[in-house]
Amino acid sequence: MTRPIRTLLIANRGEIAVRVMRTARAMGLKTIAVYSEADARALHVESADEAYPIGPAPARESYLKIDAIIDAAQKSGADAIHPGYGFLSENAAFADACAAAGIVFVGPPASAIRAMGSKSAAKALMETAGVPLVPGYHGEDQDEALLAREAGRIGYPVLIKASAGGGGKGMKVVRAAGEFSEALASAKREARSAFGDDRVLVEKYLTKPRHIEVQVFADTHGNAVYLNERDCSIQRRHQKVVEEAPAPGMSAERRAAMGKAAVDAAKAVGYVGAGTVEFIAEGDHFFFMEMNTRLQVEHPVTEAITGQDLVEWQIRVARGETLPLTQADIPLIGHAIEVRLYAEDPDRDFLPQVGRLDHLVLPSGIPGVRVDSGVRAGDSVSIHYDPMIAKIIAAGADRAEAVGRMGAALAATEVVGLPTNRAFLQAIVAEPAFAAAELDTGFIERHRDTLLPGPAPVEPRALALAALHVLLDEARMSAQTADAADPFSPWGLAPGWRLNRSAFVDLTFADGAARIAVRAHYVPGGFHLDLPGGQLSVEGVMDDDGTLTARLDGVRLRARVVRSGQRLTVFAAGTERSLDHVDPRLASIEATGTAGRLVAPMPGTIIRVAVKAGDQVAKGDALVVVEAMKMEHTVAAPREGTVKSVRFAVGDLVDEGAELLVLEDAS
Ligand code: ADP
Ligand code: ADP
Ligand code: MG
Repeated sequence: MTRPIRTLLIANRGEIAVRVMRTARAMGLKTIAVYSEADARALHVESADEAYPIGPAPARESYLKIDAIIDAAQKSGADAIHPGYGFLSENAAFADACAAAGIVFVGPPASAIRAMGSKSAAKALMETAGVPLVPGYHGEDQDEALLAREAGRIGYPVLIKASAGGGGKGMKVVRAAGEFSEALASAKREARSAFGDDRVLVEKYLTKPRHIEVQVFADTHGNAVYLNERDCSIQRRHQKVVEEAPAPGMSAERRAAMGKAAVDAAKAVGYVGAGTVEFIAEGDHFFFMEMNTRLQVEHPVTEAITGQDLVEWQIRVARGETLPLTQADIPLIGHAIEVRLYAEDPDRDFLPQVGRLDHLVLPSGIPGVRVDSGVRAGDSVSIHYDPMIAKIIAAGADRAEAVGRMGAALAATEVVGLPTNRAFLQAIVAEPAFAAAELDTGFIERHRDTLLPGPAPVEPRALALAALHVLLDEARMSAQTADAADPFSPWGLAPGWRLNRSAFVDLTFADGAARIAVRAHYVPGGFHLDLPGGQLSVEGVMDDDGTLTARLDGVRLRARVVRSGQRLTVFAAGTERSLDHVDPRLASIEATGTAGRLVAPMPGTIIRVAVKAGDQVAKGDALVVVEAMKMEHTVAAPREGTVKSVRFAVGDLVDEGAELLVLEDAS
């Protein structure tokens, strides 16, 4: 029996919503989006044929609101709902609500979601289905003494996991019996606040494992297959950062054994649709970890190596069709790698970042590279949702080709407006151990020093390009004011109009608290720069988007400098560097405008006070650091002076515009 699906509502946002719509449209379906107040102008809304508002920005008042979504489905005449991942995708009550409303849920039966929803119950079930498990305790009894006894029996180190867990939350490694009680209390606290359920399981903590997962698919006619595996061992805080398919070093026998175990797991719960069975593997052994009853974030690598569209498979299965391929016909061609580009600060424990994407260039035109994204330049990453900016997927005939293409793709990625993990991902891909496929979940920790090198001095080349940008920008502005009526004004050319050979201009840049002075001498066709490390001659032309075609000491290169306020970000040869241009005119306006008052840039918490009354400060010295929306803002001295008084202490809450300290001019 087949069920017609002509109109599909996507109960999600961001890249996965956009991605599902792409396939739905290709299959001739009408697409319906839903959106929260924060997303009224989001890409997924514009990508849909129709879009319905479902409530305020917080997810629990919109994307997690079952009634609002069912209501939108009924108003739009949707035949089916695709839940994407996250949000309601693994919510059995939502699958039930769809059924009750006569709408097809593009996912497994509610009973299968329930069976796999608790990691403990799922393990008990897998045990009876003969699927191998990590040695551990997953019983109902949660008595602390019993859990501690079980931990001792399993043998330290052990891992405490929230049964209801997901996203790496509620997981605690315990190295010795003495730490058990405290770790248990902390895991329970996290689990209660994240999932409203503090039940836990305890299992052996493997010290050098790989995360290998199997993509499974089942239809309503009793067919079930696996579409090879993915290796997702490169993780931070138990969350995936890089995923690839196939798993390096996987033998055909082992693939078949893991594939069979995964299909057995799916069959044991009467599975239908797309699912992922996650295993943890060490040495010759592999063990069941959990089953995710949805499409996975990293599904594109499987699409790349099988040449299949998994969303198309999902929709076909939801219509009641049989699986498009049998096990023997599922291809495995080449290799594919995915990275998750996040708005986060790797140097501050991967703290999520919010803000506006002032400038965004995602790779395009590189063979084998696919980009899935739900945002464009000008959009904001908000506190309400996942801070993922894009997924970048690179495929090749073999792993080395895929790695090379990923390197090129990351080098072509430009984000200005908020910190991202781009350079960190680039460092992973460039790491020799990655090329050698030395993969396990300890990879990031082990290579921490190379992956997170910390702040480095500004390279002369980046400094020269920043200076060239400022100089060409000024030449352009003066040409525009002088020659506003002349459309043929040659402002884009090097400022050869300045013929006085001895003329120079002094520029000041700021790299954090450090000041860098650059003197630019005008010479025919360009400039000689006096940089801290020596001289450099530069010339070039600049497009409207900041693209520079430049010569540095005769070496021709293309680069881009993006300005956002005072901040200049230099992109050149796959590297990026930000620094501030200290404009003397702006600085004096600021100083007079605030007339000696130093105020909080936004409401927040004082996290650092660097000075006390009586201190002498130089222009640009950091005075106070305010944290707001998980980001730090440094209030710096606008000029030289003496601190007269400091009004707040660390931990104080301040309103926007509050006077933080008083500075007296140096006499
Ligand atoms: P995987 O699917 O590989 O197991 P995750 O568990 O990290 O990886 O992915 C699911 C998570 O993605 C959700 O728990 C949620 O935090 C996040 N998420 C949900 N919806 C979206 C979205 N539309 N865009 C980006 N991330 C999302
Ligand atoms: P989540 O629901 O958060 O995805 P998982 O059970 O899938 O939780 O585990 C997340 C990650 O934690 C795994 O990918 C793996 O890296 C690590 N992990 C899970 N179980 C173990 C274990 N027994 N030993 C070592 N690492 C583990
Ligand atoms: Mg998992």
